Amino acid sequence: MTAILLDGAVIARHTFSELEPRVRALGKLGVRPGLAAVCVGDDPASAIYVRNKVRACTEVGLHSEVHTLGANCTENALLEKLERINHNPDIHGVIVQLPLPRQLDAGRVQRAIAVDKDVDGFGWHHLGALVAGHPVYTPCTPLGVMAMLDYAGITIEGRRAVVVGRSVIVGKPMALLLISRGATVTVCNSKTPDLARLTADADILVAATGRAGLITADMVKTGAAVIDVGINRLPDGKITGDVDFAAVNAKAGWLTPVPGGVGRMTVAMLIANTVTAAERQSGMTPA
Ligand code: NDP
Repeated sequence: MTAILLDGAVIARHTFSELEPRVRALGKLGVRPGLAAVCVGDDPASAIYVRNKVRACTEVGLHSEVHTLGANCTENALLEKLERINHNPDIHGVIVQLPLPRQLDAGRVQRAIAVDKDVDGFGWHHLGALVAGHPVYTPCTPLGVMAMLDYAGITIEGRRAVVVGRSVIVGKPMALLLISRGATVTVCNSKTPDLARLTADADILVAATGRAGLITADMVKTGAAVIDVGINRLPDGKITGDVDFAAVNAKAGWLTPVPGGVGRMTVAMLIANTVTAAERQSGMTPA
């Protein structure tokens, strides 16, 4: 058995094709959705992620701007920058590229983004809305995972799902989205005893740990949907996920590659959230 590969590039293109008429409709109102990305320092991985986001904006017809501050910038300088962007009517969505240098409090910075422009959905307003079952902007990575599951026609309701990782940006919102769709969800962390026993019971297994090769074939149920969120750089420079791809590919029913899987969908969902933000800020009802 070989798993069906969930190709992030293909599914992202499908998402973009659905966004295009919405972008055209905004254009008729004289509105071009705009995304501002704020970067601090010169982390090479962050630079690649931001470049991918800018490229996706261009592909779908969005305006984008990148604001870069030095690695030593103060929190006040960053907050002032965000305040100016918050008030720019040409910008409908704002993101701060993570990670931030240690002198900056990422939580406080995230919360300085205007609620209606917080298209990463990391602010407390959006996380709370997700908990309450009334999501506005949902964090893009888990949203992208849901889009992949739906694209592949994978049943969620009534299934056992295991999310390995409990971060605010991936693990927790991922669990909430799966719960909202009727899955029975277990959330694991680095202290979880007998991780393999739990993961081996999962119909849907989401790995979001940042530990290369953590999920081995013996930890996977035959025929399961295995979603690899992890992005890990090996000593030889290669990028790999949290899943032992070759072995799990022979056992899973569906599998996402790294690179070319969830990462593409994270970007696609950011673009989708920005289009939705532009619609809301223009008085349109989002599709
Ligand atoms: P964090 O470091 O914030 O969280 C990692 C989580 O994994 C923690 O909850 C941690 O547990 C858990 N964990 C670590 N080791 C183990 C283990 N051995 N067994 C079980 N759980 C473990 O990372 P993020 O959530 O921000 O990101 C996770 C991964 O996803 C990273 O590789 C990141 O690069 C990638 N990523 C990919 C994106 C994409 O678009 N594809 C987007 C965002 C992130 P504990 O809480 O106990 O420490």
